[in-house]
Amino acid sequence: MRGLRVNSDLCFGCRACSSVCLAGRITMRDEEDRRFLRFSGVCDEDCSRCQEVCPPGAIRLEGVVEAPPAVEISFALQRCAACGQPFAPEKALTALLPRVQEALGGGEAPGWNLCPSCRRKVLAGTVVQAADGRLIVA
Ligand code: SF4
Ligand code: SF4
Repeated sequence: MRGLRVNSDLCFGCRACSSVCLAGRITMRDEEDRRFLRFSGVCDEDCSRCQEVCPPGAIRLEGVVEAPPAVEISFALQRCAACGQPFAPEKALTALLPRVQEALGGGEAPGWNLCPSCRRKVLAGTVVQAADGRLIVA
């Protein structure tokens, strides 16, 4: 059988793995201000998408004799600096920010502390973000 192992130190809750898992072996749910990811422990599907897509390489698919137990990991969600909605794991935002800044030439990452909806408004130029995070109609 094939084990599905996840390194909880490396995993930052981005949900890429659950998004590509069509067999329901990795599931994700957000409850209030926490995200929960559940890994089944075993997967014998003809697939390795989760391992391939995981940004930090936290997933390992490998032959095992005994079935590893299912694992659930939870993450605190960061709240949007403008509207206050929880939108992404703090751990993921912290881990990915340097890569985003590097891709943008080493500068700021506009709207990084905003949810997708508020970020769209900032990038569209219909609002500006004040220093305290609030959005102000431009
Ligand atoms: S190998 Fe494929 S089917 Fe199995 S857990 Fe990963 S994404 Fe899901
Ligand atoms: S893709 Fe990797 S980092 Fe993202 S939630 Fe899955 S195991 Fe964690």
